[in-house]
Amino acid sequence: KIISIKKRESLLDSLTGLLNRNAFDSLKSYKSKQVFCFLDIDHFKSINDTYGHDIGDKAIKAFTHCLNENIRKTDLAFRWGGEEFLLILRENINEELDVYLILERIRRCVEAMDLTDIPKFTVSIGYCYHESKTEIQELVKKADLALYESKKTGRNKVTRYKE
Ligand code: GH3
Ligand code: MG
Ligand code: MG
Repeated sequence: KIISIKKRESLLDSLTGLLNRNAFDSLKSYKSKQVFCFLDIDHFKSINDTYGHDIGDKAIKAFTHCLNENIRKTDLAFRWGGEEFLLILRENINEELDVYLILERIRRCVEAMDLTDIPKFTVSIGYCYHESKTEIQELVKKADLALYESKKTGRNKVTRYKE
């Protein structure tokens, strides 16, 4: 069911080919163990302001490459908004270390990118674990709070949500 939504064109973001918000909305009833991760490009506004919107778009595409290189077919990657992304990691990832390493790999991939026409940039990440009976909107909120913590404490880092 999850895989099949990836094939529906109306559920894909046109710039990145990632799933869009419509796709996320169709997940409402999905219930199983998983990890919710929010990713937000750092100081993206200044990339746009300094280099222009087209370069900003290219940065978003380059970011998408790092995302796709480091996740599996069963993980779900959404473009949430402009330079914000939601990642839902598949259910059999339970180990804290595994999740942290996957997200660190994405963070480092972005940090290491050195492309001729795009300025260097970084990404901040927050994540939380699915707990039974937690509403999907609540998980998104917790991942977002963890992301905010990454932003607040210096950016270019991965933070797990803590109560
Ligand atoms: P922070 O490190 O706190 O995340 O700062 P930021 O500058 O990344 O965040 P902010 O929310 O201030 O700016 C996001 C910018 O993203 C503003 C908006 O113009 C730009 N943006 C949104 N969608 C797109 C898009 O599709 N393409 C481009 N090029 N820019 C976009
Ligand atoms: Mg940003
Ligand atoms: Mg943002």
